[in-house]
Amino acid sequence: MKYISLFAAIFFTGITSVFGFGHEGHQAIADIARSRLNPAARAAVIRILGSDDLASVATWLDDVRSAGRNRGNMKGSEEAVAFNHRFPASANWHFVNFPVGSAEYDERSQFASDKDVVHAIDLAIRTLEGAAAGLTPLEALKVLVHCVGDVHQPLHCVSGYYDISNPSSPRLLPPDHFSLSTPTDAGGNALFYSKSQNLHELFDTTLLRRVLTGTGYKKLGEAAVQREAPHHSVTPGDYHRWSALWATEGVRLGTDAYQGLTFNLAETSPGRGGVPRLHRIEITLSAGYEAREAVVIARQIGEAGLRLAELLNSLHWSEP
Ligand SMILES: [Zn+2]
Repeated sequence: MKYISLFAAIFFTGITSVFGFGHEGHQAIADIARSRLNPAARAAVIRILGSDDLASVATWLDDVRSAGRNRGNMKGSEEAVAFNHRFPASANWHFVNFPVGSAEYDERSQFASDKDVVHAIDLAIRTLEGAAAGLTPLEALKVLVHCVGDVHQPLHCVSGYYDISNPSSPRLLPPDHFSLSTPTDAGGNALFYSKSQNLHELFDTTLLRRVLTGTGYKKLGEAAVQREAPHHSVTPGDYHRWSALWATEGVRLGTDAYQGLTFNLAETSPGRGGVPRLHRIEITLSAGYEAREAVVIARQIGEAGLRLAELLNSLHWSEP
């Protein structure tokens, strides 16, 4: 039901850009990591990719997914068709929909799945370490660079779930008060603060440019690191578990992102089994909301880049 609700939300709201920092954000994260690779990681990346230009593949997973929906610059490409055929669930690798207010990412939860962003990162790591088959090393590297970015976008880790029995006052439900079939905003994709602007897109593409300046993704990345480096520390524990810790941080930041939202009016239609289907909810952002969250996003871009470098530098790269 989770995916049915999600795709329903996307279909009915006519959203064109979902899941993931925009191109510039992903490229900035990849470029931060590129400039911090240790010799072993740089050699392995060059062997797999032909260069250390991680930014050049940072949005490949988005492009492949778009192609599966007949859009974007890889539309109709044999590479995309073959990949989507081999990995039909890969459209889910970009996110996980934990309820707003959850304490942590817990892989035993009904909201986690072996197709979520944490597991996609894990699959890529195991592939690059020679411990999993399926993906090629090149595909694994592309997936890793992309998904480490996505897990740092807070609205890729949480979704709001609602009681919309009274559409004129939709109510955000606390965790444990609903199931996977409860109407969801799919990571803010169904929350509209104007006729055409939704909350997810605000976090993907709009906010980062509010506080980060400079032309191009390289300058953007440098600006993000400058903000974040003083606060940065290496993620504790085994790097195979880092993705779950990053998702837990995302669940908390995502929960914070729902502070300051007012839910005004839900657009619904009768759904299957008597469960109303949610199309969109009109929301109001509190004063200062965008400025507050822009700071969070700028820091997350910096963190994602630094952590991607630390992860690549930690891997036990499989020999060819
Ligand atoms: Zn993505």
